[in-house]
Amino acid sequence: MRKVRVRFAPSPTGPLHIGGVRTALYNYLFARQNGGDMILRIEDTDQTRFVPGAEDYIIEALDWLGIKFDEGVHIGGNYGPYRQSDRKPLYRQYADQLLRDGWAYYAFDRPEALDAKRKEYEAQKKTFQYDCTTRLSMENSLSLPADEVQRRIDNGEPYVVRFKFPEDMDITVHDLIRGDVTMNSRLLDDKVLFKSDGMPTYHLANIVDDHLMEVSHVIRGEEWLPSAPLHVMLYRAFGWEDTMPQFAHLPLLLKPDGNGKLSKRDGDRLGFPVFPLDWHNPETGEISSGYRERGYLPEAVVNMLALLGWNPGNDQELMTMDELIKLFSIEHISKSGAKFNVEKAKWFNHEYLQKCSDERIAEMFLPQLKEHGIKIEATESNNFQFSIFNFQFVMKVCGMMKERISFPSELWDQTHYFFVAPTEYDPKAVAKRWKPGMTTHMAKVIEILNTVPFEYDAIHQALLEDYIKGNELNMGQIMNSLRLAVVGTTVGPDMLTLVMTIGKEETIARVQRAIATIGEPQE
Ligand code: GLU
Repeated sequence: MRKVRVRFAPSPTGPLHIGGVRTALYNYLFARQNGGDMILRIEDTDQTRFVPGAEDYIIEALDWLGIKFDEGVHIGGNYGPYRQSDRKPLYRQYADQLLRDGWAYYAFDRPEALDAKRKEYEAQKKTFQYDCTTRLSMENSLSLPADEVQRRIDNGEPYVVRFKFPEDMDITVHDLIRGDVTMNSRLLDDKVLFKSDGMPTYHLANIVDDHLMEVSHVIRGEEWLPSAPLHVMLYRAFGWEDTMPQFAHLPLLLKPDGNGKLSKRDGDRLGFPVFPLDWHNPETGEISSGYRERGYLPEAVVNMLALLGWNPGNDQELMTMDELIKLFSIEHISKSGAKFNVEKAKWFNHEYLQKCSDERIAEMFLPQLKEHGIKIEATESNNFQFSIFNFQFVMKVCGMMKERISFPSELWDQTHYFFVAPTEYDPKAVAKRWKPGMTTHMAKVIEILNTVPFEYDAIHQALLEDYIKGNELNMGQIMNSLRLAVVGTTVGPDMLTLVMTIGKEETIARVQRAIATIGEPQE
């Protein structure tokens, strides 16, 4: 059997859309599953759409997601160069071959003449197409005498090379997802293969490169399906049909409401990223947000994208890259578009955060801590007064609180009271919980902390069992008041775990401050 070789072939016209990332991912899963090669080829034949920085962005984004390549523009390989502009001298001979064999022709029509033609058709509510029905009324090597064609070429008149579709032929593309898709050549226009600037177009370069790079499967977005009949015909014209790659056209990624394709603009408009990384538009300075900077984990993005258009045949949702490689199959790719679901994306991130080590989450938290003036140093014990903590403490807090967050950016809101003592107390909670006699109860809490061993069970016994239950006191009010004193509000994790985490001295200091600040309520 032929070796599986797939390629991801983006055009560097801007940041990579999340749909493009999914295409890269499916190619990668397929390559890995079949022990094949994954190639990164940059398709930059349209120099007018070239955007500086886009190629580096694509490489960085795929690297962040763990989509790795065996060959490509950034790592080389035996089939290079992998950037089409660096392959420029190679394409001309293929255009010449098609001209020689009658599969292509020279066309001299100036852009103004083509525009005029389009307008003429529009005026009659028709659409102009350069095809078998119109080509003889245009200026090309099919309509002009041979000596005139030669004269124009010799005079250096600009021309393009167009593909010559046979007049009435059904062309079938066998698609691994959609089955046979047949189109009649009358519906297809004689696409430009080679431009007057000496560059091939996407169509010619793509087919030549897939052939020379021995690509076995072309897995790409559905938007390329209308071009596939031309591609099939090009393989035929070149005599390469035997080794033509197999095609799989992936369903579109749709807006969350299912109405239309997920566009570049949708992301920031609807409040979720459509790019893997932040993109700074070099021309406008505009920033489009990316998954990485929003705090998504690469494994969550990979898992979510894998399921946008594919399923493992059951309802399993959480899958690592290795599992996806095992389970992936082209047969389970759906034909219909996949709706983007931002809630699901958050859910995946939450789930993957739970799988992260406390150390990894703590690392992600460090910039926020720094922003809030918290210093993380290699100290034995924490110093609340000077906001100096050790990394082990940050890890512990992260481990305790991660189940409450979907993004690392939520960590400070959820954990600030571990690092900074409250200076204000939620007035509503004070009114509800801090009842007459509370300063005495809080003084008792301090006494217990000062006398019993500083251990969870011992404090539990002395405070909750002996003091509160033993004296038939109001458990909710006392424990919530203690929480108010330590946190400033009545939210947070298990109270005694919190006390054990911040330590005896800090707890006592906070309770003392609450007694002094709130004082004894008036009856
Ligand atoms: N350069 C094309 C793109 O930007 C590649 C299409 C293909 O994979 O054939 O999507």
